[in-house]
Amino acid sequence: MRIEDRMFDIRPKIVRTGQPAAITVRPRYRKWHGPFRVTATGMEGRGGSAPVILEGVRGGTGGITFDLPFPAEQEYLVRIEETGAGDPVFVGEVRLYALDDDLLPFLPWKGDVHMHSTRSDGREEPGYVAAACRRIGLDFMALTDHRLYEPSREAIRAFDGCPTNLLMMPGEEVHPPGTGAHLLNVGGSESVNAMLGSPAYREGVARIAAAAIDVPAEHRAAYAACAWCLGRIRDLGGIAILPHPYWETHDAYNVPEPLLAALFDHQPFDAYEVLGGYASQYREANSLQVARYHEETARGRHIPAMGNSDAHGCERGELFGWYYSIVFAERNERGSLAGAIRGLRSVAVEQSPGEFPRIYGPFRLVRFAHYLLREVFPLHDVLAAEEGSLMLRWLDGDRGAAEALAALAGRTARLYRSLCPIP
Ligand SMILES: [Zn+2]
Ligand SMILES: [Zn+2]
Repeated sequence: MRIEDRMFDIRPKIVRTGQPAAITVRPRYRKWHGPFRVTATGMEGRGGSAPVILEGVRGGTGGITFDLPFPAEQEYLVRIEETGAGDPVFVGEVRLYALDDDLLPFLPWKGDVHMHSTRSDGREEPGYVAAACRRIGLDFMALTDHRLYEPSREAIRAFDGCPTNLLMMPGEEVHPPGTGAHLLNVGGSESVNAMLGSPAYREGVARIAAAAIDVPAEHRAAYAACAWCLGRIRDLGGIAILPHPYWETHDAYNVPEPLLAALFDHQPFDAYEVLGGYASQYREANSLQVARYHEETARGRHIPAMGNSDAHGCERGELFGWYYSIVFAERNERGSLAGAIRGLRSVAVEQSPGEFPRIYGPFRLVRFAHYLLREVFPLHDVLAAEEGSLMLRWLDGDRGAAEALAALAGRTARLYRSLCPIP
């Protein structure tokens, strides 16, 4: 968290482009005297690059309020100096963001939808993984154990009778037979793994393979198996994700190039895992996934981007929390998130410890997401961490935790709306 965000309460932080707004900055642990000089600069020089300077701004213990114009969508740097007797004294530099109308209705939801529990090869129980997700600031999650859908239901059931602000979706990692590839079913109402080998599966795969004459013959069956599974996930209301194509396994990448090319050509998936959960020594795979994302996008393809941790443990000190997605959606609800992802309103985030974050996706969202990571999420994450601890207490048998969580219902969404009120 930037020091200014600890020392000042700034409301609003996010405003509507083209509409002047009154900004209030309140000092939290000190007294101000004033008067103040306020200098605001649009960082990209959109709408004019000359700074707006307000002299003699006065305020009391409730802070100072000043009106600024926000002519264009961009980040604004606002410098505050105290100008009493003597030389001006620098007080702080606060950051604001002006958004165009089309993005204002959406809230930024953070989520990871690729994780494992003890039911496959992870380290913790399903419910524990969910609580740990809230503890690190995620708003939505899905457990995706290998070939298993039931553990994700188990994670959801662990909170029966306990209200939370975390959206827990059902999920599974689907292993289409004979392909070596993995796919993610996130939010689908049934297991696709359970359908593999059924007559419907065999007929469907045969039908897709017969039609896929542009796919090299040697890869046609694998393509058809993947496309059938992805199609079923979508039919079941789920988000169909193509994960880790460049994961090195069995002496080769997980998805052979001709099969990957066919998947990008036909795009039977909803989202591509631009960032997968690779430990430090395997990050080359993410570099390739990112390069592929940019190359396919440069060819004019619309490819929704996601980042997932693929964590096989929440307490191992790696992966969990390193990679996640931000989805700009109206509600933290499966249909709303799915629509946002398909509508290209998501980015993939890499935030490994001790390093600056890297974000991939459409430029405009990446630019805004960097602002959110720096200026807004630290405030959000403190609240989410408290809820995550309460969720763990619930799992540990503390029935009182449910009441405490009920009192916090909708709190993080309200925080965001207080920072970004739609005028
Ligand atoms: Zn996998
Ligand atoms: Zn996995």
